Amino acid sequence: MKRSFIREILESITPETISFAGGLPDEHLFPHEALRTSANRILSDPSHLQYSTSSGILPLREQIAAIYSGQGFETHADNILITSGSQQALDLLSRHYRDRSITIESPSYLGAMGIFALNHLHTDAITLEHDGITINPFAQSLERTQLTYLIPDYQNPTGRTYSLEKRKVIAAQVQKHNAILIEDGPYSDLFFESRQPAISAMIPDRSYHLGSFSKTLAPALRIGWIRASEALLRPLLIHKEAMDLHTNSLTQYILFDYLSHGDQYATHLKNLRKHYAKKRKAFSEALTKYLPSFVFEKPKGGMFIYGRLPGVDTAELVKMSLKKRVVFVPGNEFYGEGRGMDEIRFNFTHPNTEATIRGIKILANCL
Ligand code: PMP
Repeated sequence: MKRSFIREILESITPETISFAGGLPDEHLFPHEALRTSANRILSDPSHLQYSTSSGILPLREQIAAIYSGQGFETHADNILITSGSQQALDLLSRHYRDRSITIESPSYLGAMGIFALNHLHTDAITLEHDGITINPFAQSLERTQLTYLIPDYQNPTGRTYSLEKRKVIAAQVQKHNAILIEDGPYSDLFFESRQPAISAMIPDRSYHLGSFSKTLAPALRIGWIRASEALLRPLLIHKEAMDLHTNSLTQYILFDYLSHGDQYATHLKNLRKHYAKKRKAFSEALTKYLPSFVFEKPKGGMFIYGRLPGVDTAELVKMSLKKRVVFVPGNEFYGEGRGMDEIRFNFTHPNTEATIRGIKILANCL
């Protein structure tokens, strides 16, 4: 398996590099003081340093279950398995479904495609349209694979969001073909207009819903989770025990403490959405002004702006721009071979507005 382009890029980034590449949150918005207070409270009790259970600490699972139930998706603590980021959730699922075929979006999340390849899952990639995956080929593929991996909210890499109609059709198709849906939602809370209903809520016994605190709080916590029926979670626990016994329980307790103190998490999320919506606006305006040949859709949430520079080989462009210390991810990385050659994914949440404008001007110069 080839090394991830994003890893290589992240490693070549210096403090001077303007990076539009990784899906990084803005560290100025981390609630680090509140997390420090929680960490101090938790570390004052040595019992928090002991081994813990493989499914995760109960009070945190209860809190996550309550968040789902509050959104109308009835969930109990037994439906939650805490993982080391949602990346580990993908790894657990890939091990469980090893050697199977799986229907995915094209383009899709690099980190998932890498794990699928590593676990010999054969991917059937179906074109992602502006309002979700293309239904007819999706249904035909699902009949064969009976397994699908989708990112319906502010997708990585395209920033696209599924329409309600497509969500319903997909749920019906999963049901019809006795299939299983893996719904990945690390960006679901970063909506700029309104929250979309999870497809999993329409088929709770045929789905895994993956969540994470990486994009909303801090990736260093490495806390993600899988929401599924107890029957679906049970075999995953065996893999989880084999992998790491349990997710870091110290950060689980810190997170539990943070979430249980007033409404600071809700306030933080509101603030985050407001700031990221502003950053999306600034980034879009800079693109329109300084890189007018870039054709793109404005995302309604998440962290990425995706689009095309018609006729430009963006893999060549990034080689050139890297020398001038500006990086982005060329679209080809998110497909199989030979597609998306003139496409680009920009991350708009990490760079500040001054760096955004300077970086886009440098790209225009390289062009
Ligand atoms: N799924 C998707 C679609 C992602 O974009 C990412 C992070 N880039 C992950 C899963 C993994 O995130 P984490 O392990 O930090 O929760």
